[in-house]
Amino acid sequence: MDSKDLHFLSNAADVLTTSNNTEELISKLQNLLRDMCSLKTIKICVYDNVTNTMRDCALGWCIIDDKSILYKDFENLKEEDFVINSKAYKLPSVIGDITIKIESLSMPIIKNNNVFGLVNMEFEENTSVNMEFLCLMKILASQISLKIQNIILDEQSKINVEFHDSMKNIAKIIETQYELNYIVPLIGEMLDRFISDHLIYVFLKQDDAFNLVWPKACKDERIYEALKELTPETEYILTSNNKIGAFPLISEGEITGCIVARSTLDNLSKRDISYLEQLTRQSAITINRANAYSKILQYATIDALTNLNNRRQFEIRLNQEIATTKRQNNPLCAMMIDIDFFKKVNDTYGHASGDAVLRGVASIIKSALRESDIPARYGGEEFAVLLPYTHIDEAKVVGERLRKSVEETPINIDVEGIETKSIGVTISMGLAEFNSSESGEELFERADKALYEAKESGRNRVCLSI
Ligand code: GH3
Ligand code: MG
Ligand code: MG
Repeated sequence: MDSKDLHFLSNAADVLTTSNNTEELISKLQNLLRDMCSLKTIKICVYDNVTNTMRDCALGWCIIDDKSILYKDFENLKEEDFVINSKAYKLPSVIGDITIKIESLSMPIIKNNNVFGLVNMEFEENTSVNMEFLCLMKILASQISLKIQNIILDEQSKINVEFHDSMKNIAKIIETQYELNYIVPLIGEMLDRFISDHLIYVFLKQDDAFNLVWPKACKDERIYEALKELTPETEYILTSNNKIGAFPLISEGEITGCIVARSTLDNLSKRDISYLEQLTRQSAITINRANAYSKILQYATIDALTNLNNRRQFEIRLNQEIATTKRQNNPLCAMMIDIDFFKKVNDTYGHASGDAVLRGVASIIKSALRESDIPARYGGEEFAVLLPYTHIDEAKVVGERLRKSVEETPINIDVEGIETKSIGVTISMGLAEFNSSESGEELFERADKALYEAKESGRNRVCLSI
C-alpha cells in the first residue's frame, strides 16, 4: 500500500465520519472516487427482507426495479467477495499483479456475518483497475457497511421518537377537546404525518354504517369491502396483497370506528402494522373518552375551553332574542367572527397554544362587549355575538373596536412547556342587522356572508351585510 492509497483511505474515513445522511454520503464518496478512478456512478443498496426488494439508500430508500442486475449481484455476493462485470470472484482468486477492464463492480455490505446489501460502482468505458484498487475498495466497502448500519439505526430511533410523540399527542388532545368533529381529523392528521408511506383513513361507525371522517374522500372500494369483514374480535385485517390494513377502534367490546392504512407502493410491513395497532388503540381510548365527555356535556351551556356560551345555548338565546325583538320592535345585530390564519398558529406552535389563543381571543371579546350582549363559541375558531338593542352603525363601532383590540393585544402562549411567547392574531368579522321578515338562522347566514367578504377582501376587517 503506498502513500496515495493511505491518503485515499484517510479521506474516505473523513467522508464517512462527516456525512450526516445518505444523500451527503453518496455525493461525497462519488467525489472522492472520481479523483482516483474513472467512476461513473456509485450506489449503496440494502435488501429489505420484509418486502423482498432492494432499496437505494440515496433516494430515501426507494425500491430498485426488480429487473435490475443488482438483484443478481446481490445473490452472487452471498458466496463471493466481488462481482466484476456481472461475474463473481473470491478475493484470493483475483489477487495477482494483473489489471482488468472493468465496467461494474459490486461488493457486499455485511452485518453480523450476513450480506444485507451491496455497494455498486459503474465505470467509464475502457477503465482498467489493478488488484490494489480492488483491495482498497474492499476496505472501503467494509467501512461503508458500518456507516450504513449506523444510519439505519439512527433513522429507526428517530422513527421511535416520532412514534412516541404521536402517541403522546393523540392522548393529549383530550385534555382540552371533546368534540369528535375536531379531534378525529386531528388524529387522522397525526397518523398521516407519522405513517407517511401510506394513506390513512379514519371511519366512525354511525347507525351500523362506517362513515369516513378523515380525509374528505375515499374512492377505494376494496377498503369498504374490508370494513364489512370487521368483527369486535378482529385484531386487524390485511387484504390479500397486504396493501390495505384495517384496524378497528373498539370500545367496550363494540366497534366504534376503524383506521385504515392503504399503500400505493409497498406492502404494509410488520413494523407498520405494529405501529398502527398501537396508535389505533390509543386513538380508541381518546375517541371513547371524548364520546363519554360529550355525553356529560350534552346538558352544559358553557363551552369548556373559552367559558363563552356554547353553540346549543347560543341557539336557544337567539330564538329568545328574536322573539323579544319582534315583540318590542327593538333593533338587533348579529356578529360573526373568525380568527385569521388560525391553522398556522396550530401548525407552528401546537394545538395547546392554539387553545390558548382561543381562550385569549374569547376573553378580549368578552371585555369589549356590554353586559347585555351574548357572545358564544360558534365552532372551532369561530365566535358569534348577538347585540340586542343595537343598530348596525353602533354594531360597526363595537366591531371595529373589538377588531382593533384583538390586533393590539398580544396573547401569551406556552411553547412546548419551555418558554412563554407573545403572539399577535387578527380577526375578521361580518355584521348584519335583523329585519323582521327573516329568521335567526337567516340573520346569521347574512352575517356569515359578510364575514366571508371580510376574508376575501384581505382579512383583519369588518364587513357589513346590506
Ligand atoms: P382563515 O383566515 O381563512 O380563517 O384561515 P384559518 O387557518 O383560520 O382557517 P381554517 O378553517 O383553515 O383553519 C381553522 C383551524 O382551526 C383548523 C382546526 O384544526 C383549528 N381548530 C378548530 N377548533 C380548534 C380548537 O378547539 N383548538 C385548536 N387548537 N384548533 C382548533
Ligand atoms: Mg374558520
Ligand atoms: Mg380562521
